[in-house]
Amino acid sequence: MDSLNFAANTPRVLNQCLALLDQPARPTATFSVPLTPKKYENHPDIQFFSSIKKKHHFEYHKLKKNSTRDAWLDKSTVPMIHSGKSTSFDPYSRADLLHRISTFNALNWSIPPSSDLNESGTVLPSTLNELFCALNGWACEPISRNNNFSNHLKCSVCEVQLILRFNSVDEASYGKFLFDMEDIVRLNDNLKVSYLSEIRHGAHSQSCPWKSLSCSLQGIYYMTPYVSATNATLVTEYLLCLKNLIDNLPALENMGAFCQTLVPSGTSELDEHFVRVSKMWFLDRFYTDTKENFAAVLDFVCPPWIYKVAALGWKLSLQSHQEDTVLLMTCDCCNQRLFVEQHMAEGVVHSHKPWCMHMSYMGQMSFYEYFYRLIALLEKSIGPHGEYLVDQELSFDMDPLTNNRKRRESFDINDGLDRLTKLRKMYFVS
Ligand SMILES: [Zn+2]
Ligand SMILES: [Zn+2]
Repeated sequence: MDSLNFAANTPRVLNQCLALLDQPARPTATFSVPLTPKKYENHPDIQFFSSIKKKHHFEYHKLKKNSTRDAWLDKSTVPMIHSGKSTSFDPYSRADLLHRISTFNALNWSIPPSSDLNESGTVLPSTLNELFCALNGWACEPISRNNNFSNHLKCSVCEVQLILRFNSVDEASYGKFLFDMEDIVRLNDNLKVSYLSEIRHGAHSQSCPWKSLSCSLQGIYYMTPYVSATNATLVTEYLLCLKNLIDNLPALENMGAFCQTLVPSGTSELDEHFVRVSKMWFLDRFYTDTKENFAAVLDFVCPPWIYKVAALGWKLSLQSHQEDTVLLMTCDCCNQRLFVEQHMAEGVVHSHKPWCMHMSYMGQMSFYEYFYRLIALLEKSIGPHGEYLVDQELSFDMDPLTNNRKRRESFDINDGLDRLTKLRKMYFVS
């Protein structure tokens, strides 16, 4: 046969395949695993390996089956944890805490103002806010067909529900009566104090772990300054904001004036440095392979104020509402939502909620100033894929421009040891 001559030098397996293909089609063709040829069956090596194979046959298939099942289980559990719907109890998870905070919005959460007079003891009624509830394991139920109550809390573990109700401070509803507004505020303050203790312990079911342990305010929500874990988290949160803004650049084009009201006014000598290092972080994290190409585009399209807006924790969110697109600036830390059009028209400057991490202090510095300096300092901590390299030496002078000079002036432990050794030698020699 011509084809067989043609394939004279091909390996034996291929020849066998060719022979099979050349055979007339057989409807009952069977394929079986090649058996050991008869003449080798009594060979001691073959006998040894077949005995091992027989012995482990069952174990091998059991293992294979389990590993496939485990892989499948892993796949099915991962999205459940990250979707934030899991009922897991993790008071040390910042992501879970921020997810619970994100369930509180202007529609489903409204707390009347406090008098801010602390008459009732150690707890201030003004501590009743979204953060306090989220720290104690509560999320706020969205307003829906099944729920038309605002301030409707639900525990993320024991699923107990708690609705906070207050006396209306709307003057019109008390017009006919002789209620003093101050009395109503005081009544509401008393209610708040009792709700605070319910939220902390009382309302959770007996077996709920949130009853005995809540998220720590310091360390989980307000980050500890000058710690590597904090830096890594803050850099990641910043880069996600930056990615969101850069992805939405066309929508931000006309918002320059508005966005600049969000960032501290004035320029700093560090501005250029901050933008340059931010760009390095951003490109390494999201465009590892194409960073050279994208860097030029970024320089061209991205104005420097974008980086500052991202450093303040703002993202842009586009929501469609009756055929219109509504632009919102949102913060993941406090779930503040600024309606861009409304604020541009009214000219009112709004910011984060008063308790937001971005309004807090890191040591002696405002959060923004701390983070602004930190990014500029972290130039050497950028890994090849934009990850944070923890073990890089980092000086916390927090002043990148004068950093080197200050380090030389500061006490260096190695210099000190050298001098001590020299002095000791002099003593012993004499
Ligand atoms: Zn609970
Ligand atoms: Zn905020």
